[in-house]
Amino acid sequence: MNQTLKSDFYIGRFAPSPTGPLHFGSLLTATASFLDARAHRGRWLLRMEDLDKPREVAGAGDDILRTLTAFGFEWDGEVVYQSQQIQRYQAILEDLKQQQLVYPCGCSRREIADAAKAGSDGLIYPGICRDGLNGKPARALRLLVPDAVISIEDRIQPKFQQYTSRDVGDFILRRADGIFAYQLAVVADDALQGVTHVVRGADLLKSTPRQILLQRILNYPVLKYAHLPVATDRSGQKLSKQNRAEPVKAEENGRVICEVLALLGLQPPADLAACTLSDIWCWAIQHWQIDKVPHCRSLLAPDWCD
Ligand code: GLU
Repeated sequence: MNQTLKSDFYIGRFAPSPTGPLHFGSLLTATASFLDARAHRGRWLLRMEDLDKPREVAGAGDDILRTLTAFGFEWDGEVVYQSQQIQRYQAILEDLKQQQLVYPCGCSRREIADAAKAGSDGLIYPGICRDGLNGKPARALRLLVPDAVISIEDRIQPKFQQYTSRDVGDFILRRADGIFAYQLAVVADDALQGVTHVVRGADLLKSTPRQILLQRILNYPVLKYAHLPVATDRSGQKLSKQNRAEPVKAEENGRVICEVLALLGLQPPADLAACTLSDIWCWAIQHWQIDKVPHCRSLLAPDWCD
C-alpha cells in the first residue's frame, strides 16, 4: 500500500445514471474513484442517480451493477437510489425556502431562450421571475444565486473559477416536471452519505461551483474534487450512453481494466492483463497516484470504443 496516500478519513463514491450500459468512459470514472478511495484505505460507495425517470433506460441500473461486479469492483454498504431520497431533497428545499433563497419561475424555455445570454453551462437565466410571477403559473423552482466568485483547487485540473451570477445565474432546484435537479440531489446525497472526496469526469467541472455554493449555503462540508479527463471517440465526442458508446464486455475485463489504467497514467506490465482480477486490482491500488493522471479535459479512448 502506498503510504504517502494514507489518510484518516476518506469516503468516495461512484454515481452512475441508469441511462444505458457501462461504457469505457464510465468504467474510467469508476476505476479512478475506486482506486483513489482504496489507496487511501477509504470507503467507496455506489449511488444510482435515477431521478430523471424520463431518461432512464429500463434495466440499465441492474446492468451497471452486474458489470461492475464482473469487473471485480466491491462497494461498501448498500447501493443508494436517489429515487428513494425524495423526502430528503424536499426537506433541503424547505431549508432553502426558509432562508428566502428559493423562488418560483413561470418562464417557458422559449421565453428564456429569447432573453438569456449563454453562460458556461447553458443559458443564464436573466432573473425574470425574481420579483414575482406576473400572473404566470409557477413551473420550476430556482435558487436566488448571490454574487460570488467560487474557485476550485482541483486535484487534477488547473485552478478553476466561476462568477456565480455572471457565469451561471439563478439555477433550477426543482424542474417544471417536479423532478429535483441534479445539483440539489448530488449535494444532498454527498453530504448525507458523508462523502469527503469526489472523483468524476471533467465534464462536471462547470457544475462544481454550483455544488460548492449549495454546500456553503446549507452549511455542509465542502468536498475535495478531482475531475478526470473524459474519454472521447476519434471525432472528439465524449463517450456517453446518449451517443450509444459501446458497452464494456465482462469477458474482456482484465484487458479493458489495463487499458483504463494506462490512460490514467499508470504503466501496467504487459502480462498484468492475463492475471486474476484480484491481482490486477491489487497492483493498481499499490501503484495508484492521482498526480499521474493527465491534467487535461479529455483523452482519446481505445479504437474499439467507437
Ligand atoms: N450521475 C452523473 C453521471 O452519470 C455523475 C454525477 C457525479 O458524479 O456527481 O454523469
